[in-house]
Amino acid sequence: MENTDTLRIAIQKSGRLTDKTIQLLENIGLKFDGYKNRLLVKSLNFDVELLLIRDDDIPEYVQDGICDLGVVGANVTLETAARVEVLRDLDFGHCRLSIAAPVSSNTGSAHELNGKRIATSYPVLTKKYFDEIGLDVSIIKISGAVEITPRLDVADAICDLVSTGSTLKTNGLKELETILRSQSQLIRTNKPLPKHKQELINKFLVRIEGQQLAEKSRYIMMNAPKNALDKITEIIPSLNSPTVLPLANPEMIAIHTVIPIAEFWEVMEELKDAGATGIVMLPIQNMIN
Ligand code: ATP
Ligand code: ZN
Repeated sequence: MENTDTLRIAIQKSGRLTDKTIQLLENIGLKFDGYKNRLLVKSLNFDVELLLIRDDDIPEYVQDGICDLGVVGANVTLETAARVEVLRDLDFGHCRLSIAAPVSSNTGSAHELNGKRIATSYPVLTKKYFDEIGLDVSIIKISGAVEITPRLDVADAICDLVSTGSTLKTNGLKELETILRSQSQLIRTNKPLPKHKQELINKFLVRIEGQQLAEKSRYIMMNAPKNALDKITEIIPSLNSPTVLPLANPEMIAIHTVIPIAEFWEVMEELKDAGATGIVMLPIQNMIN
């Protein structure tokens, strides 16, 4: 497949990353018309098209320049050892690649697995881990349902992706060691790109940054006695100076500001102590600093 003047982005056709990826692209202003059962989907408002493929193929398509960008888990990019540039962590598709063994085997640590059979869809990363800890294991490559292999006596332990751990539990497995923490990333080809494509990528990166900042921030509004303003301004870990508005009661003011969500509860308690009332928190759609 030839690359063209259109910025081409590889995304997962159907799987855990698909909805979140499309949501991200729509949040940064790209419009598309129907993705179902299509390989190539053109954007309605930018010179951009999506290539919908299996996630396993994404890093190599980007490495080879068939696609300019890709959205894929770090686990896949590292397993395929594709030479691509990671532009940004996207904060979804969080998971870990872990070694697990049957609870019934009484294995307490991955270090006890010398000489054992390990089933995995990640042979490269698994081998690298065991090499690093100096163990000799036989790696059995399985493409799906790795978690049932110990019960079938195909393997003694597994190395698989875990998010909550419930699949491991259901299959009588105990997590022994995390060998990689992963999330979705935006990757870019290392091949040189024409100016118009690079400019479009820069524009999208600014928008993604705005989106990520918005997700981590909240707009808060409160009322307070006028004389509490200095104290409240001190408490607010504001990105900008707060907005202060008059109220019908001349002794009172309204204060509006943006704060990092992580600090909300702590800040709210301090604000209450300083005299703030009617504190309201709102999500933010997007923001550009
Ligand atoms: P494909 O048909 O595209 O090859 P797949 O079955 O390999 O799909 P999915 O199960 O949809 O892939 O997972 C896609 C990605 O989602 C993984 O590579 C990983 O980055 C991420 N992920 C997050 N949590 C999990 C989890 N609990 N199990 C598997 N993958 C997860
Ligand atoms: Zn896959």
